[in-house]
Amino acid sequence: MKIHEYQAKELFASYGIPVPAQALITKPEEIEAAIDAVDAPLRVVKAQIHAGGRGKAGGVKLAKSREEAVEKASAMLGAKLVTKQSGPEGKAVHKVLITQGLDIEKEYYLSITVDNEHSCLVIIASGAGGTEIEEMAVSHPELIVKMPVALENGLRDYQAREVARRIGIPAENGKEFMQILSKMFALFTEKNCSLVEINPLILTDEHKLVALDAKITFDDNGLVRHPELLPLRDPMEEDPMEVKATEAGLNYVALDGDIGCLVNGAGLAMATMDIIHKFGGDPANFLDVGGSASTEKVTAAFEILLSNPKVHAIMVNIFGGIMKCDIIAQGIVEAAKAVQIRVPLVVRLEGTNAQQGKEIIRQSGLSIVPAVSLADAAHKAVTLAKEGERA
Ligand code: GDP
Ligand code: MG
Repeated sequence: MKIHEYQAKELFASYGIPVPAQALITKPEEIEAAIDAVDAPLRVVKAQIHAGGRGKAGGVKLAKSREEAVEKASAMLGAKLVTKQSGPEGKAVHKVLITQGLDIEKEYYLSITVDNEHSCLVIIASGAGGTEIEEMAVSHPELIVKMPVALENGLRDYQAREVARRIGIPAENGKEFMQILSKMFALFTEKNCSLVEINPLILTDEHKLVALDAKITFDDNGLVRHPELLPLRDPMEEDPMEVKATEAGLNYVALDGDIGCLVNGAGLAMATMDIIHKFGGDPANFLDVGGSASTEKVTAAFEILLSNPKVHAIMVNIFGGIMKCDIIAQGIVEAAKAVQIRVPLVVRLEGTNAQQGKEIIRQSGLSIVPAVSLADAAHKAVTLAKEGERA
């Protein structure tokens, strides 16, 4: 789960990581009060969207007067922002943050994330932080410092000191830096994050370190331990179909292809995507209905798949284990009746009570294309999707 910069900075502040004063705007009538609440000669007007690269896309504006801040905030609220990370369709700005503007002496990059390859955490840091960090990581990888940290050992002072030295933190700010990093580490582990990032961490003209930007991603699997984090979710920032899927208890990830997949079990869902590829097609999504595929769940799954205009065929791939195929077939038939299915539906049922399941589908009168194997299902789905595309 991603959160906004203003929320991440509130969490930073609660952990004692220094951030500039801020006030949030969600509607036009809040603009003036928010700007007055941040009383500073320089203010920054910042679009709150779940995508980075705002600075270069016009989503971060400096304002030298109250009037300028009002003007820039009014223009930003409700506008659409296309950044490198937002996708070409861009993101609507529903929230604008006003922060106290600071004079920057130097910008650093500092983050903690999970190193899956080495099964540990890793601190990534650079003395060349700011909006160019991605390009810089490619052109000058030697300027990026990586420090692995074993979760069981925690962050050691020598590691923090080493990072500070390698990115060129002035000696007088060494202690401050170590405190910021250890608080980031505490936040990361206590809240089960997958990313805590400050870019830029700045050295101000008064020689203080301050987090000027903040990005936090929580591990969704850790959220059960943190009910206090759930209100931070912003459904407006998420794919509406992924929100609907989460509410229905489905494991769904939208992809770019044109074959909707409805599968039970994450492993089988992955295998289904692979075999679609093997037959020359592209899956429109990953969807795991889980072990208890009720009619309600299957209906929600069909609704989600069909709401994607790119979908030209649906491939249902069910292996009945504890869950019996006849029950699933019943669910498919009822769901198919409840939802107008506008594309060919290929169904492969195997496992417990598969015969009864196939019989239910045959007798339903619905135009379902039965498949005898995984390969047969994929071949049929790919062929039908291609025909659908041409039509
Ligand atoms: P991002 O582009 O989405 O990562 O947005 P950031 O919050 O990181 O802001 C982008 C850039 O705007 C920063 O790298 C700074 O150079 C600049 N910026 C942001 N806040 C301030 C500020 O208070 N003072 C000054 N001088 N520049 C700022
Ligand atoms: Mg940034």
